[in-house]
Amino acid sequence: DETSSTPGDRRRVPVVAIVLQAPAKLTLSLRITGVRDDGFHLIDAEMVTLDLHDLVTVDPDRNGTVITGRYADGVPTDDRNLAVRALGGRSVGLTIDKRIPHGGGLGGGSSDAAAVMRWTGHPTDDAGLADAATLGADVAFSLIGGRARVRGIGEIVEPLPHLDRVVTLVIPPLQVSTPAAYRAWDELGAPTAPGPNDLEPAALRVEPNLARWRDKIGDATGRTPVLAGSGATWFVHGEHSNALAALGNEGAEIIAARTTPAS
Ligand code: ATP
Repeated sequence: DETSSTPGDRRRVPVVAIVLQAPAKLTLSLRITGVRDDGFHLIDAEMVTLDLHDLVTVDPDRNGTVITGRYADGVPTDDRNLAVRALGGRSVGLTIDKRIPHGGGLGGGSSDAAAVMRWTGHPTDDAGLADAATLGADVAFSLIGGRARVRGIGEIVEPLPHLDRVVTLVIPPLQVSTPAAYRAWDELGAPTAPGPNDLEPAALRVEPNLARWRDKIGDATGRTPVLAGSGATWFVHGEHSNALAALGNEGAEIIAARTTPAS
């Protein structure tokens, strides 16, 4: 049944399920430029979307939330799920095919939410982005996508020209809490890292085992790994999935991905 109507309603309202792509986010660089009075950190970051994506199906003819896919485990279906919250109480069916590993800083939950918000027609002007950022720090960027400079606490998103790049992600079986990493940065005395990510020393303090993974990735590729945001995902530029395959046997996910333009 592709249409629905109520008796006496002369319009026939199409009921069509829509499949939305929700891309992973990669934080290529991150400077911390200050701390607000309320304790939130101000950032100046370069973020890109990747061709790794979840699929979010919105079906107005159904109700309830279903999580499927390789990384479905541990993803909530109630309103702890950012995509459910982004529906703002609309009763539609939501199916999220999780292809983005979660807990590694790839922003999958925020991206699922942004996909829903694009479907609801959420505005992307400054006020709309500020509102989106209250749902999650990465939601504003995810609404814009592509390559962008992201500032404030994540709500200031300035699109940058697309650069076609390939990166190889290594997602170790470790979790780094983002708030804990920022707290560690405060405790370390607000350091600026020599590499592109100021949070790297702080994340290493929170999870010392990250260093072991960094060294293995460096040894296998001859490249300097960069921590993605607060981690625990490391990445190197270029396609190195063969060189890194052995780390897959140690419980890491190895994913080569390409940057995507804003859609
Ligand atoms: P962060 O960017 O905050 O480090 P992340 O990118 O590592 O998060 P997400 O995919 O955003 O990972 O998921 C982090 C946690 O958020 C999950 O473990 C889960 O409990 C919760 N969550 C809420 N909504 C979603 C969603 N739609 N998909 C996945 N996880 C979600």
